[in-house]
Amino acid sequence: MAETLRSACPLDCPDLCSLDVTVEAGKVVSVDGSALTPITDGFICGKVRNIAEHLYGDDRVLTPLVREGKKTDAAPRFRPAGWDEALDLIASRLRAIVARSGGEAVLPYHYGGSNGWLSEGALTTRFFRRLGASNLDRTFCSAAVAAAMRGLYGVMPGVALEDYAHAKLIVLWGVNPSATGIHLVPIIDRARAAGARLIVVDPRRIPLARRADLHLAIRPGTDLPVALAILGALFERGTGAAFLAEHATGVDELRARAARWSIAAAAREAGVPAADLERFVELFADASPAVIRCGWGFERNRNGGSAVAAVLALAAVGGKLGVRGGGYTTSNGDVAWTVGPEAAIGAPPAKTRTINMSRLGAALRDERDPRLEAVFVYNCNPAATAPDQVAVRAGLARDDVFVVVHEQVMTDTARLADVVLPATAFLEHREVRRGYGAMRLFDAPAVATPPGEARSNNQLFGELLRRMDLVRPGDTASEDELVDAIFAASPHGAAMRAEIAARGVATPPLGDRPIPFVDVFPGTPDRKVHLVPAHLDAEAGGLYVYKPDPATEAYPLALISPALSTQISSTFGQLRRKEFPLELSAEDAAARGIADGDEVRVWNDLGEVRCAARISRDLRPGVVLLPKGMWSHHSRNGATANALIPDGLADLGGQAAYNDARVQVARASAGA
Ligand code: SF4
Repeated sequence: MAETLRSACPLDCPDLCSLDVTVEAGKVVSVDGSALTPITDGFICGKVRNIAEHLYGDDRVLTPLVREGKKTDAAPRFRPAGWDEALDLIASRLRAIVARSGGEAVLPYHYGGSNGWLSEGALTTRFFRRLGASNLDRTFCSAAVAAAMRGLYGVMPGVALEDYAHAKLIVLWGVNPSATGIHLVPIIDRARAAGARLIVVDPRRIPLARRADLHLAIRPGTDLPVALAILGALFERGTGAAFLAEHATGVDELRARAARWSIAAAAREAGVPAADLERFVELFADASPAVIRCGWGFERNRNGGSAVAAVLALAAVGGKLGVRGGGYTTSNGDVAWTVGPEAAIGAPPAKTRTINMSRLGAALRDERDPRLEAVFVYNCNPAATAPDQVAVRAGLARDDVFVVVHEQVMTDTARLADVVLPATAFLEHREVRRGYGAMRLFDAPAVATPPGEARSNNQLFGELLRRMDLVRPGDTASEDELVDAIFAASPHGAAMRAEIAARGVATPPLGDRPIPFVDVFPGTPDRKVHLVPAHLDAEAGGLYVYKPDPATEAYPLALISPALSTQISSTFGQLRRKEFPLELSAEDAAARGIADGDEVRVWNDLGEVRCAARISRDLRPGVVLLPKGMWSHHSRNGATANALIPDGLADLGGQAAYNDARVQVARASAGA
């Protein structure tokens, strides 16, 4: 008998949808959005609507697998093993490595984007802290945004997505809600129907750019001079002078730094008409409420942190804060809540070295004491998603690096593992998750039976804690105990739990639509906006200082790798069997004698990708596109965009600089 159960979607998406999941005999039959939260409003994306294909597809890992043969064998060979055998093997190998080389020779490699506090923190983190493993700096996404936001505004939620309906001007800067956060689209449409203007800043003509009042198709990495020139024009107009006098520090310093870029110079650098930048200034200065949806696309380059800081400063310098629907939004995650996962971990942070996840290839090459001898991957697929892919795959394929992968399906990374362990998906284990767009929090129970022998992260690491004698008296362990610990650590925890029990979802203590500078103020010590924070200035080696385009004569084309609407980063990539093409403009194709559908080589000094070409009217000349999250079966030679992406970092937060790849393209038959 089928029944419909409540759940929530923890995937790496701002919307945090409330779900109705129909289950029969423990299996998910269908999933749809529920009306529980106004953002979800009863609909969800195709990714999760079709999740049964992911849960019960041929690629699902159903038992522990132990490698037979070498990792460099063309076709990986694994044999099924029982959990006891697999865990004994892992425990004995880790014990030997720690005894020989110390805990830092072990690297946990994970990304929490598609997981909540039970899967990402809790016993998983406890295990590696007690082992004394190396720490991982998680920098694939939002590291530069978080650094800039916290530097300027401290801990303060931005404009609620629901409040975009009140805006008279919406700016989408480096974000494509049609693919990543679809529930903002109808809200924008409602605002537009009520007379709001729309500006899109993106090198690509994203779907919403087609109906925008202004689209600035700037060259990748030039957001900083563009934002500085707009800031300079706003300062000249004195638009936000009254707001700045009361609420900001660093005004004169930012004014001086912005003055380095005139509208004409910024337009030249960005490759857009100066008149378009002037139009931006005019629309933005005159509109109220005006809101900037600050995305994650433009943090991923050498100037990313400064660019985000400059865009966030626009809200203050334009005097846009202090009204409903006015200001900016980045991540409304940690900044909106008084509750977090740390209490469930039950072990203090280890004072061990930290390795930047975006430089995994270099870390595996590094022979410094102790060299990495084990990589334990969970919630992540670095062979597909980490920069400098050739080095990453070569490092993971070393026979002297023990690789364990806990995964739902057979990923590119799992194929390089010594041991693969079957993992539960989010509908198969309990999860506590707060949104980073929608300001909501769920405690969602398991609604489906794990297929095969899949286990949750807490089941796996709870068992490893026991086997490696890392359990301490008084440890919390069960899901109930872990959830109790999370909420008990917050002064508002009891109220949140009561709200979840009554309504199925909790809102932050200040409500789900706080107005910045009315209901909430910056978390800085003086509760002001710090437009040029000293610590960011030091970290960036000069905040708001532009580093020019890294293009060379040999590699003149900027490669961007934006998110797909059909995947969450690499998640669900096994479901698409077809290749992805390289998209390029008609001008760049013609200059190289490339026709639509031709096989092309895309290359630079790091690697090469072979795939078909698709001529796109949505890309400006000089920019080519391979999507984010491709798997090896999505190209003709097994390499993806990350094979071309250097492991250089943005100026803040250790952020991966995915969009700094510069490449050349030729027809494969041209023999270049
Ligand atoms: S991925 Fe986003 S839009 Fe899709 S169900 Fe999850 S939260 Fe909703």
